[in-house]
Amino acid sequence: MPEVSSVRVRFAPSPTGTLHLGGARTAIYNWAFARKHGGDFILRIDDTDPERSTPENVQQILDAMTWLGLDWDEGPSLDGSIAGDAGPYFQTQRSSTYQPALEKMIANNAAYRCFCSAGELSAKRDAARLAGGSSGYDRTCRFLSDDEVKTRIDADLPFVWRLKVPEVRTSVIVKDLVRGDIEFPIETIDDLVLMRSDGTPTYNFASTVDDATMGITHIIRGDDHLSNTPKQILIFEALASDDKGGAVPAFAHLSMIYGEDGKKLSKRHGAVGVEEFAEMGFLPDAMLNGLALLGWSLDAETTIITPEMLKAQFSLDRVSKNPARFDIAKLEHINSIYIQEMNTEKFVQAMLPWLEEAGLSSSADVAVRPEWYTELAPLISERIKLMTEVVPMTKFLFVDEIEIDEKARAKALDKDPEVTAAVLAATSSTIEGLDDFSLSSIEAAIKDLPSKLDLKPRVVFQAIRVAISGSLVSPPLFESVALLGKERALERLSSAI
Ligand code: GLU
Repeated sequence: MPEVSSVRVRFAPSPTGTLHLGGARTAIYNWAFARKHGGDFILRIDDTDPERSTPENVQQILDAMTWLGLDWDEGPSLDGSIAGDAGPYFQTQRSSTYQPALEKMIANNAAYRCFCSAGELSAKRDAARLAGGSSGYDRTCRFLSDDEVKTRIDADLPFVWRLKVPEVRTSVIVKDLVRGDIEFPIETIDDLVLMRSDGTPTYNFASTVDDATMGITHIIRGDDHLSNTPKQILIFEALASDDKGGAVPAFAHLSMIYGEDGKKLSKRHGAVGVEEFAEMGFLPDAMLNGLALLGWSLDAETTIITPEMLKAQFSLDRVSKNPARFDIAKLEHINSIYIQEMNTEKFVQAMLPWLEEAGLSSSADVAVRPEWYTELAPLISERIKLMTEVVPMTKFLFVDEIEIDEKARAKALDKDPEVTAAVLAATSSTIEGLDDFSLSSIEAAIKDLPSKLDLKPRVVFQAIRVAISGSLVSPPLFESVALLGKERALERLSSAI
């Protein structure tokens, strides 16, 4: 692709729902493309469906984008302010731009009034269907004489404005940056409605006028809009009679995201909303990484794509034409790598909200004993895939009394209660005798217990682990005992005995 100057792209969600994976990926590609080319990323809210659009959904979309680390140059901000000169950025507030645009199209002989009623239109459609013809509008009103139009206006007949699809050309070619040229024969393009009889614009008209007036250079969106594109190209051209070619933006249509069953990703596949993934314990950068890889890659090997890499190296050339398959296991794998790669301080800060929400810890506690958290952090980050695992894995370190997992109890404590009692009593007296409760001295003391008791190490260590943590899966044993502290460790052992 030749170097593009002053790129302007937009993400134009309809706030009829929250931000889903497909929309998030569209937003990410637009953002990365803008950043790569030093251009502008615009957020426009397509809120023309009054019944289904809500302020809560708008807020959620803004929050989810912010969580993912996507910043936009123009559009509504989280604090309610607006950035940019090409606004308003809510379609419902742009009604004053559609009328002048329509007038321009009328002046360019590219629009006409249609007086056909809903009843007439449906009768025409039924007849066309029976005859096996096209279901598009039959253009009756396109050929009304001036007098016939005047009579209808004088009779106060309601009318819509339709696009006059040019008769002189044979096709519209979408030069798609992902899929190459796609040709739509002109006879397959309907004289679509631009403006309804109540003066509201249709999606195709509003979107095109907005993209034209906002100076959008590239439209990157899902391929569910591909059939709209030839119509929009005709509108772009009609809006700019003086400078045709340059006025039409470039297009890139992104293939759908499929679930693991090969069907289009939907609620049936489980979580599809970005905020659900945040709640499941995915980190924003890992999510950005995983979503970016749904249809784009740097090369065949690279799995880890940081936001910086995406901004520097994203290109539409490497966007795939084939549907992407969403694989949650791969996303978890990516998440675990981001967790492991975090430095200790960052990981402590990442753990904190989860611990706080569970009522286990607070930033004040971190401030009081930062070293304790520094010791804990790597033991956890090496073992988890999702941040939600932090709480079950560390809870035993924070609470006064633990609940012992039933399976763990049966396996490690109740099999041979006499042996267990002996092991725990020996551990207790060993620990009690330690003046220095450092990791190395704990390790040295407990390590010798199996041979002293003439028992298998697994039997001994499993019993201690379950007695102090309540579970068979915990951070490493000696470290767990050290983090728990002498007093608490002794309490746990005696209550297990
Ligand atoms: N509001 C439209 C949607 O969410 C935007 C389509 C477009 O990008 O043109 O599907």
